[in-house]
Amino acid sequence: MDNLSKVLNETLQATLPSIGKGQVANYIPALANINPNQLGVAIADLDGKVFKAGDADIPFSIQSISKLFTLIQAMKIYGEAIWKGVRRDPSGLRFNSLVQLESEHGIPRNPFINAGALKICDQLESRCSTPNFQLLSLLKELSHNNSIKVNHRVAISEIKHGARNAAMAYLMKAFDNFENSVEKVLESYAHHCAIEMSCVDLARATLPLANKGKTLTGKALITTKQCKRINALLVTCGLYDEAGEFAFRVGLPGKSGVGGGIVAIYPGKFSLCVWSPELNKTGNSLAGFELLERLTGALEISIF
Ligand code: GLU
Repeated sequence: MDNLSKVLNETLQATLPSIGKGQVANYIPALANINPNQLGVAIADLDGKVFKAGDADIPFSIQSISKLFTLIQAMKIYGEAIWKGVRRDPSGLRFNSLVQLESEHGIPRNPFINAGALKICDQLESRCSTPNFQLLSLLKELSHNNSIKVNHRVAISEIKHGARNAAMAYLMKAFDNFENSVEKVLESYAHHCAIEMSCVDLARATLPLANKGKTLTGKALITTKQCKRINALLVTCGLYDEAGEFAFRVGLPGKSGVGGGIVAIYPGKFSLCVWSPELNKTGNSLAGFELLERLTGALEISIF
């Protein structure tokens, strides 16, 4: 691990020329204002050390990476009952596609596409008194950073332009797979997506997934079995319809968001996060994906 900082810096430098080849997300207008020329990476290891390079301390919109943490919350509350309303298979379609939901009777393919995450938020709404507050508290605790907050401008922008998400939630309701008020759950979901964290925060917050579900103090965030299941879902569904390509090129469980972040887990060793706002055609960070491919290649690591 001694040369980690050096390898991080080298892979970051080698990836810089890819900035300018993608496009920042603009379907949520408040996300379009970001400076695209940013690239950061951070690794948090099981000895409690953090290694970083580039823009690793700048908070960015975590967007779909929040789906990982809402899944953790719901798994803790519901256990196996969580799977009544959502499956765990790759969708092979865009993250906000409606097509499958109609033909599959309102049961989303997995918790990492928008429909599945909305169903998870619906479950949280049924059983938590303050789901948003509880999520923020969890993230602050896991990342050791009390200043993590929601960007309300982004949340409002998403609610205003969230017709597709609303359509998914109503479709699930029509199929009797949605318990709460659609508006209330959409608001909650948009606030989760609009949380801002840095690469360092996210690398720290995902560390239990590299540690059989435990934090570094030995506290069980989730069980070993739940940890195995989440990592399996990250491999098969974490990068939308590019999950296969990510497994092929990077070889680690991962989760992306349209804010340009990607978290990845190297079980038993470390967790990491890359961020660069420009996305490829599938909605994943273009430079972030490339950096991770370079990094895992240079370190010769993979779960396969
Ligand atoms: N807030 C975004 C949406 O609902 C999240 C999408 C993503 O990051 O993949 O469309």
